[in-house]
Amino acid sequence: MSWRLKLKFWGVRGSIPTPVSQNLGYGGNTPCLEVRLPNDELFIFDAGTGIRELGIALKNNPADAERDIHLFLTHYHWDHIQGLPFFGPLFNPKVAMTFYSTCYACALRESLAGQMTDPYFPVNFDAVAANKQFINKGPMPVTLGDLTVRPFPLHHPQGAGGYRIESGGASIVYATDREHGHTKLDAVLREYAQDADILIHDAQYTPEEFQRFTGYGHSTWEEAVNVARECNVKQLILFHHDPNHDDQMISRIVEQARAHFPNTEAARESDVLAV
Ligand SMILES: [Zn+2]
Ligand SMILES: [Zn+2]
Repeated sequence: MSWRLKLKFWGVRGSIPTPVSQNLGYGGNTPCLEVRLPNDELFIFDAGTGIRELGIALKNNPADAERDIHLFLTHYHWDHIQGLPFFGPLFNPKVAMTFYSTCYACALRESLAGQMTDPYFPVNFDAVAANKQFINKGPMPVTLGDLTVRPFPLHHPQGAGGYRIESGGASIVYATDREHGHTKLDAVLREYAQDADILIHDAQYTPEEFQRFTGYGHSTWEEAVNVARECNVKQLILFHHDPNHDDQMISRIVEQARAHFPNTEAARESDVLAV
């Protein structure tokens, strides 16, 4: 069967960019995902520093240079929005940009504009050339052509939203910035992750590190494996790599996870997956 959803990772690192040589195998940019449909429609999830390179790639492809942008945000911690002021299409008057959020984090437009106010950035968000629209459908699914995006709440400081992304019967679940141990929201995640083709899951800490960092809002490869197994997920992608985890460490984490769930990979910048 041909593919129905194609996913590309532009940023996979959690918390802060880490462009140091020992991290570049998996990548140092903060979260940004590109999702394409067979009809070439494009959707973006999160605007970490990875979105800058995506903006360059779009500009360099004539079919993409002036396309409308649909950008879904999980929440407004800086690692998920800090690439936006450097996203080329934001400054193109021929581009219509629609921003989507859930009710599980704070106000959409104000949160994005806040990082571009004086004295943090020289161009005010209201002054950028793209034609901007803001949509918060609360907990309701968003359907755009052949794509349906179902938001759900994650347990994270100041709130965050996960997304189940569906098209043509295929599904990708994006669940980053979640800490396990919240009975109700742990069950909500499992409901949304059920039978997913791909589960992208927060795996910032090892189980040992988690003991020290409980309350920071992140999870472990062990919990990611548990969700994947319990929910009949086909492929698990470990995501939001800790800034202190170098390539060797992440590869060791993947090996440990594979002992329990063989079809596990760590998200790597530029990798493309299709389902
Ligand atoms: Zn984050
Ligand atoms: Zn966060």
